[in-house]
Amino acid sequence: MIGYAQSREENVAVRDPVCGMPIEKEKAKFKTEVRGRLYYFCSEYCQRRFLERPRIAYFSMEIGIRSEIPTYSGGLGVLAGDVIRSSADLRIPLVAVTLVSRKGYLKQKITSEGDQLEYPDEWSPSEYMDSPPQTVTVKIGDRNVKVRSWLYEYQSLTGGIVPILFLDTDVEGNTPEDRGITDYLYGGDERYRLKQEIVLGIGGVRMLEALNFNVAKYHMNEGHSSLLTLELLKRNDMNVDKVKNLCIFTTHTPVEAAFDKFPYDLVQELLEEEFPVETLKRYGGEDRLNMTLLALNLSKYTNGVTKEHMEYSRKLFPGHHIMSITNGVHSYTWTSPYFRELFDRYIPGWANEPELLVRVGPIPDEEIWAAHMKAKAALFNFIKERAGVELDIDTLTIGFARRATAYKRATLIFSDIERLREINRKGRIQLVFAGKAHPKDIEGKRIIKEIYGYMRELEGEIKIVYLENYNMEMAAKLTSGVDVWLNTPLPPLEASGTSGMKAAHNGVINFSVLDGWWVEGCVEGVTGWAIGPPPDEPVEESKRRRMEIEDLYNKLKYLIIPTFYDRRDEWIDMMNNSIGKVAYYFNSHRMMQRYVTEAYLL
Ligand SMILES: *Cc1c(COP(=O)(O)O)cnc(C)c1O
Repeated sequence: MIGYAQSREENVAVRDPVCGMPIEKEKAKFKTEVRGRLYYFCSEYCQRRFLERPRIAYFSMEIGIRSEIPTYSGGLGVLAGDVIRSSADLRIPLVAVTLVSRKGYLKQKITSEGDQLEYPDEWSPSEYMDSPPQTVTVKIGDRNVKVRSWLYEYQSLTGGIVPILFLDTDVEGNTPEDRGITDYLYGGDERYRLKQEIVLGIGGVRMLEALNFNVAKYHMNEGHSSLLTLELLKRNDMNVDKVKNLCIFTTHTPVEAAFDKFPYDLVQELLEEEFPVETLKRYGGEDRLNMTLLALNLSKYTNGVTKEHMEYSRKLFPGHHIMSITNGVHSYTWTSPYFRELFDRYIPGWANEPELLVRVGPIPDEEIWAAHMKAKAALFNFIKERAGVELDIDTLTIGFARRATAYKRATLIFSDIERLREINRKGRIQLVFAGKAHPKDIEGKRIIKEIYGYMRELEGEIKIVYLENYNMEMAAKLTSGVDVWLNTPLPPLEASGTSGMKAAHNGVINFSVLDGWWVEGCVEGVTGWAIGPPPDEPVEESKRRRMEIEDLYNKLKYLIIPTFYDRRDEWIDMMNNSIGKVAYYFNSHRMMQRYVTEAYLL
């Protein structure tokens, strides 16, 4: 998947996973078998480092490592995937832990009426990885549940390797019910979820030990894995300071209501055999077990995912020391083949040093535009194949794709249909949507149906497509193939957002509410456009909404459409800035380098 121009000729070479040096297999003096795989080293030093070096154990309920492995639902999982991709490129010693989610998140179909239908998204782990013989046991209620793992190795061309453990309870000897614990990502009720979190947190720590991983720090990506702290407390004589020194917590949610919380009678029933619930209350809250609070209370380092999100988190948890490391995306993965080729020619080395994208300036406008038009054509072919809709290549195309859920406000652009019609008469627009609603998210489903309604209402005037079954592959096509990437979350609910960063890597211009990462990324009229007032402007909610709608329509009509159609050179300048002033910073290489220096080495 990954290929760097500067090392393409060396693709065939085996590399030392510690220092990255190319190795000739036949002549290699240092090699060793670990967990069923053979590794080659340049020296005894690297071999020893590989075997003994402590690693960061990165725990995440969802991981998006590739489209065919559907163990992710949205931005959180894709971010986890980018953490792994960048860590491998940078040879950061990381091991990731997640659940196997055999039936995935969901496969989405949408009826012609706009109703979402969901199907299991089954996958077969044995097609991609194998399962080491070691198993561990966790107590859930009064039952011993056996857990095994599937070991996937993400390899970078730089030599770096990140193993990913997909935990699986579908093991002979478990009851049929327990065999299903790791089936559905975010499926089932809260009992099912708590069982999953016991497997992930407690089972995960045990599995790392069973597989002989030497772990220096435990990084919890969101609160789902915070039961791992209980296992660490037990292993460290209940010494809170020792556990805190081992733990890092990244929170992703700016609202109290969205935190995972479990009633203590349920916790008592399922967890008591593993950990005394009375003691747990001290760290996880008195009335309900709050997984965010648990992670926060037992981590020395906690961060939000943007500066704005850090500010909110500090308000939510006064007295806690909360820092921020702003998210990024994996540059190579999220750059279309057309821009990769261009960057390879003008900015060699960009993929492993994305900060070099700051030097995008000298790339001629025509070449930027040509690469963009190729990506746009590729997207339009894909849309024709998938949805049978033919979009017009010269028309300003606006993209909006993300999880279908209320706070993302996918329908904000339809707030005033007459104005949208009028805008379309001034300069034509077309709209592309995609996104899955969680099966229990009634409002999310209603939003999809509402968009289908507008599609019908505007038929013959504005072309609108809604693509089914949004996933990483589609995200890559959409964020590179449209002209403008629209983002209209309700502040402060978008802790970060990352799809706009993918767009920026492809010269696609962001048009977004000032929330999450865009507060840091937006230079008005230079890197893109803002919708509505800055987050610190004290306006009440209904007024803010009116201001947002005004901005959305006015900027489309008076700035975006005229620039796109009449001042193409200015447009391309902004595409250039999206790369040189946005992508160069909002990438996961920068993000991981900061995790290393600020959290992992703490
Ligand atoms: C990047 C990505 C997301 C995140 O999108 P946001 O707009 O940041 O919420 C969600 N789903 C998929 C499949 C993605 O690739």
